[in-house]
Amino acid sequence: MPLHILQHPLGAHVLTHLRDKTTKPALFRTLSYQISLLLALEATRDLATEEKPIDTPMEPMTGRVLARPLVVVPILRAGLGMLQPFNDIFPDVSVGYVGLERDHTTAVARSYYCKLPPLDGTRVLVVDPMLATGGSAVQAVNVVKAAGGKEIAFVCIVSSPEGVALLQGAHPEVPIYTGAVDRALNARKYILPGLGDFGDRLYGT
Ligand code: URA
Repeated sequence: MPLHILQHPLGAHVLTHLRDKTTKPALFRTLSYQISLLLALEATRDLATEEKPIDTPMEPMTGRVLARPLVVVPILRAGLGMLQPFNDIFPDVSVGYVGLERDHTTAVARSYYCKLPPLDGTRVLVVDPMLATGGSAVQAVNVVKAAGGKEIAFVCIVSSPEGVALLQGAHPEVPIYTGAVDRALNARKYILPGLGDFGDRLYGT
């Protein structure tokens, strides 16, 4: 499935300020909201709509409305930094959570929490800001598939070539929407140039 890299100039602008190490948590949260909103619009460009007859104040007409509910699944904890715009713009959205924690020495993801709404007939967007090794993304999509998710997309702010390759290898039918694909991972599995530890910068930890 295709890799969609955000092309909007505002996306590049916001991402540059997100990357800047002098950006403080309050602004970091605002910028995360803004870029996640742009990514949410990209990732939902192809949502199905259906006809709905209405009356305008002038005359009857047939409009179109979203045909199916949306489920957003942030990977805890950093994924929470991308959740709000999805909640704000989609009228019929439910939220599931997958808790995966990266061991800082082994860089391997461990699942500690999972709560998902019914997924039948929905579009599921798994959101996590940093697609680094791809291990968490693959695991989260595994969990969503096991719970019945069929139409799944992955949305992130920054990705590495390694992460994209791993996710595409494991789940080739899952499209990836990202703000940028960076150069590489370092020895500690952080993205270069990246933006550092997203969760730490979001929450000031
Ligand atoms: N998680 C982060 O927050 N940053 C990285 O660079 C990689 C994983």
